[in-house]
Amino acid sequence: METTRMNAFGSGLKDYRMLIDGELCAGHEWAVSDNPADESPLGRIAVAGTDDVERAVSAAERAQPIWATRDVHERAAALRELGARLLARGDEILQLEVRDTGNTIGKMRGDLAGAVHLLDYYAGIACEIKGETLPFTRDRLHLSMREPCGVVARIVPFNHPIYFEVAALVGPLMAGNAALIKPPEQSPLSSAILGEVCAEVLPAGLVNILPGPGQTTGDAIVRHPRVRRIAFTGSVPTGMMIQRRAAEVCVKHVTLELGGKNPMIVFPDVDPEVAANAAIAGMNFAWQGQSCGSTSRVLVHESIHDEVAERIVAGVKAMHLGDPLDARSQMGPINSARHYQRVMDYVAIAKDGGAHCAAGGKRPAGSAFERGYWIEPTVFTGVAADMRIAREEVFGPILSILKWRDVEEAIAIANSTEYGLAGALWSNDLGAAMKAAMKLDCGYVWINGAGGHFTGMPFGGTKNSGVGREECMDELLSYTRQKSLHVTLSGV
Ligand code: NAD
Repeated sequence: METTRMNAFGSGLKDYRMLIDGELCAGHEWAVSDNPADESPLGRIAVAGTDDVERAVSAAERAQPIWATRDVHERAAALRELGARLLARGDEILQLEVRDTGNTIGKMRGDLAGAVHLLDYYAGIACEIKGETLPFTRDRLHLSMREPCGVVARIVPFNHPIYFEVAALVGPLMAGNAALIKPPEQSPLSSAILGEVCAEVLPAGLVNILPGPGQTTGDAIVRHPRVRRIAFTGSVPTGMMIQRRAAEVCVKHVTLELGGKNPMIVFPDVDPEVAANAAIAGMNFAWQGQSCGSTSRVLVHESIHDEVAERIVAGVKAMHLGDPLDARSQMGPINSARHYQRVMDYVAIAKDGGAHCAAGGKRPAGSAFERGYWIEPTVFTGVAADMRIAREEVFGPILSILKWRDVEEAIAIANSTEYGLAGALWSNDLGAAMKAAMKLDCGYVWINGAGGHFTGMPFGGTKNSGVGREECMDELLSYTRQKSLHVTLSGV
């Protein structure tokens, strides 16, 4: 359980523990997680070392075969109980998560509920983890069956920690695996509550939660020879690194949910007010644009470009920044000092590249924003398709507006980055929007929408945005491996 003690920082900080083999453990080391709104320390999280990873893998290997023999309905019942207990601690998780991430409380209320909804979905479709019989030959029966992979590792990013951690374990567990979860180092605290609830509900060793830096804890998990299935959510460079590092050890099944530089194409027949509101909503300012699905490139037809841009700028300038725990706040601080610097660097890169900073681009005025990682919501106009701000993922509250004349040109711009996660199209001409949707090189398209996820619909990217699909049947099946059986019926 959490403990409070005096520490090297001179104030009482709570200790948040990791989960290994059913026990909530201290680490050899601790890391302090700070509040991005004011840089104050929030708590200490245990850091998992290489020996902890080894213990966790061994515990998972002991727990997994027993779990896999449990009736699928028993597994579903255990996961539903996990979901109910997490929801019972929902307020505590929400308060901690908002302080640890800087994401605003209004929108964050949906995160835990969304993860538990996914849990319910996988519990409901678990009976669909099934094989086939093939009538190929006269004297044989040909069967295929699906088996769990064994020990599955899931590594998650900082923007929605509890959502990703819960979502990360339900697919693997429903399919009969044991799971190792690596929380993000910037916002790790809520993972300790997840650990407590897992320890109450699930067999020891089935879920192990191993916080720590990516380069040490994460790397030890990736390179562990008995972890053959890895699902990673994070940035493109880390995803490529994980593929490389995993391949140095043995052959592993690695799926990747990576970054995006998602286009929103606005056709000339759209009401400029509707388009501007959609562009602002699609940027996910409620979590500072720190979302893989943010539509950070808004491509507007030249005939309505100025009207739309004007409204976006006015809307963004009117946004209320403030304490993320205050329900009135529409945007909070950037998640960490390092990421704040990265976002600020992109403001400079955009300006140097010739884009016009039409809103934001600097620390907000006022004593409330002197400490912490605050930047105003930012809009660049006059952005050309070849500028770095139009091509690279910032993962921050920076929206770029581009202009187009011909729909083929808009699609070419949309497809011109290394990413292919998502795209949005706004038009009253559904036929034209459908034709454009079919030409977008990405995994998820919204027509007259942006940002929504719909359980059961495969989510994932093309190109450098990743491989594999999540939030759907494909994800559940990806935690199984197929075995084919051929039974000779006569002549033995
Ligand atoms: P990141 O790649 O820096 O880190 C993600 C996770 O990987 C963290 O837990 C980190 O500790 C770990 N890690 C880092 N180096 C590692 C290594 N060498 N070996 C093993 N693990 C390592 O990403 P981030 O900054 O936390 O998150 C932002 C990125 O995540 C953005 O690019 C965003 O688009 C992407 N993202 C994608 C999705 C999606 O569904 N496609 C969802 C959310 C975020």
